[in-house]
This record gives sequence, structure tokens and C-alpha cells, in this order.
Amino acid sequence: TSGKSFIKIADDDKGYHLDQFCIPKHYEEDLERVLIPEGLIYDRTERLARDIVEAFGTEPIVVLCVLKGGYKFFTDLVDKIKVINRNSGRSIPMAVDFIRLKSYMKPESESYYQNESSTGKIEVIGGDNLDSLTGKNVLIVEDIIDTGRTMKQLLELMAAVHPKSVKVASLLLKRTPLSVGYIPDYIGFEVPNLFLVGYALDYNEFFRDLSHICVINSNGKEKYSI
Ligand code: 5GP
Repeated sequence: TSGKSFIKIADDDKGYHLDQFCIPKHYEEDLERVLIPEGLIYDRTERLARDIVEAFGTEPIVVLCVLKGGYKFFTDLVDKIKVINRNSGRSIPMAVDFIRLKSYMKPESESYYQNESSTGKIEVIGGDNLDSLTGKNVLIVEDIIDTGRTMKQLLELMAAVHPKSVKVASLLLKRTPLSVGYIPDYIGFEVPNLFLVGYALDYNEFFRDLSHICVINSNGKEKYSI
């Protein structure tokens, strides 16, 4: 996956038993295992923050959070950049912004994966108008790139408002044969082709209140299906 650095989590990675970490009681029956503990996410995020600060130098940036799944990674990443900003000789002025995307194709739905010809249309439904990003250095912060369709579409929408530059930081990049080939600029972890929840990633709005990134089990899928 190009020359970009990330932590690769192998397909046969067994992760950690649920009873080795603290899991909310209400999710104990719904998860298979912990794949990435929050502490590891935190430490990896610290390094991504450093890489980002080094790359941007002293240019002001707008850090754009893609809600809702990106909110934990966004706040932790922004916090780490702030630590660097107040403790080093140079600092990058930072503004924050938020958008929410509405996707007309849900992953996990059969058609999402089967309908190859579909562009999986997205629409920006919350936050400021993208027009405010014209001429700015934008860092898009997303939770996970799966097929890459969502990000490709978002980047097209972004290009239309002519930012000065656009970079993408995604905590997770999934290995999937259905990838459109999109690779973000900053990647936390490359993960197996599994449905992941926790650390703000949801399954039908559940599991955002779970600290660690975990693999959902069949019981969880059934219990929280709509
Ligand atoms: P895409 O296939 O367009 O790259 O991913 C679309 C969206 O699907 C992501 O932004 C994310 O919201 C959701 N998604 C993809 N894989 C997963 C996953 O494993 N877990 C969760 N919770 N959401 C996912």
C-alpha cells in the first residue's frame, strides 16, 4: 500500500480477549475480541500528529472532522497537535471544522458491495458550507477508509471549492478487494476486512460508547440490526 507508514494488523491477528480489557457490561455478549486497544490508538495518534506538524510547517490549517465516526480520532489528534504547538519552537495555527456526510449506500448492505457501477453518492449534510474552505490548507480527519468511495466523493466535492491544499488522515484503512484504490496521506492502522466498532465507530449508532476498537460478533449484529 504505497510508501506510506502505518501499523499493519494481520488477517490472523487474534487481538485480545475481552476479559483482558474493560468492556461495558452492556456490550460483553456482542463482541468477538478487542482488535486495537484505545491506548495503542492514542500512542499511534501522537506520532501521526508529529508527522502532520512536520509536513505542514508553519502554514495554518483547517482540521475538518467527518462526523460522527471521526470524532474520537479528531479530538485526540487535535489534542496531540496542540501539545506539540505549545511545546516546540514552531507551531501551526489551527482552526477546526465539522461536516456530516449522508451516504445513500450503506456499507454492510448487500447493494453497497454488489453494485459496482454505483457511485455510492454522498451529500454533505451538516456543518458549514464547504465554501468556507476556499484557499485553505485542509486536513480531513476520517475514521475508516473501506472501499474508498466515500473519500473519493468527498475529495471531488472539496476540489470544487478550491482549497489551497487537501490532505486526509484516516485512523484505519481496511484491506478489501473492493477498494477503489484510494490511499489516505496519513494512516493509523491497516486492518483486516472485518466490521469494526468502538472508538466512535458504530453499528446502527451503537458501540460509539466503547473505548477500544473491537470486532463485532453475530450476536451483536443481530441484537442491534434495524
Ligand atoms: P467507504 O467504503 O466509502 O470507504 O466507507 C464508507 C463508510 O463506511 C466509512 O466512512 C465508515 O463510516 C463506514 N465503514 C466502513 N467500514 C466500517 C467498519 O468496519 N465499521 C464501521 N463502524 N463503519 C465502517
